[in-house]
Amino acid sequence: MKKLFNSDNLKILESLSFTKTLYAFDFDGTLSKIVTEPGKATISMTTNLLLEELSTHAPVAVISGRSIADLKKHLKFVPKHVIGNHGLEGLGTRPDVLETAHKICATWQTTIKKHLPAEHLKSGVEIEDKKFSLAIHYRKSIAKKNAKLAILKIASNLDPRPRMILGKCVVNLLPPGAPHKGVALVELMLQNGIKSAFYIGDDDTDEDVFSLPNARIFTVRVGNKRTSQAQYYIQKQSEINKVFKTILHFFR
Ligand SMILES: [Mg+2]
Repeated sequence: MKKLFNSDNLKILESLSFTKTLYAFDFDGTLSKIVTEPGKATISMTTNLLLEELSTHAPVAVISGRSIADLKKHLKFVPKHVIGNHGLEGLGTRPDVLETAHKICATWQTTIKKHLPAEHLKSGVEIEDKKFSLAIHYRKSIAKKNAKLAILKIASNLDPRPRMILGKCVVNLLPPGAPHKGVALVELMLQNGIKSAFYIGDDDTDEDVFSLPNARIFTVRVGNKRTSQAQYYIQKQSEINKVFKTILHFFR
C-alpha cells in the first residue's frame, strides 16, 4: 500500500477528475467514526458539506453494509446513489429476490437466538436485523474471542448456508448469492455508464472492492494494513475531510 498523500499518487487521483468518475464511499469508519453503538454513528457537518459539494461536480455514492433506511437516517445529505446491505439494496434487485432474502434472514434470526449460548446475548452480543441481511455485533462483548467463535459456529450451521463477511467486531450474514461491495460498485458503474471509480473504505468488507482486477478503480483504505489489497491508504478516519478537499481542489 502506498500513502495517498504523496505528490505522485495525488497526480493519479487528479487524473480521475479529467474523466467521468464515480466517487464512492463506505460509511462506518470512513465517512463516520467507528463507535461502540452503531446507532450512534454520525457524519460530521463538514464531511457532510464536502460530500454534498463533491456531488455537484461528479457522481457520488455511499456503499455500505447498513440498510438504506438506516443510512438515510445518518446522512444529512443523501447522494444520488445509496447502496445498502452490501449491494442488495439500491441497484434494482428484483422484489422476489428481496422477499426471499427477508424470509431467510427471519429464519436465521430465530435459529441464532435459539442456539447462541445465552451468556453471549447477555454479555453484549447483538443481532442487527437489516431486513435483507443480519449483522451480529460483538464489539460490546466482554469475551470477544469466544463470542466470535460461537457466532461463526452457529452461522456455519445455518440453512441455507449464509455468505459470511467478517468486519470489525461484526459477522455479517448474507443470503446465498447476495452481492458484495465489489459486485455492487461494478454494477453501479455499469448501470451508469461510468468507467472510472474512486473508492475508500476501512474494513474487511471493502476488500471485495480493493481486490477488483480493474485498473480504473482507484482504491484507498482508511488505515495502513499489510495484507490489504487497496492501492493507497490514509492514516485514520479523521483525514477524510482532507481527502474530500484534495479531490475538490481538482474541480475548482
Ligand atoms: Mg466501514
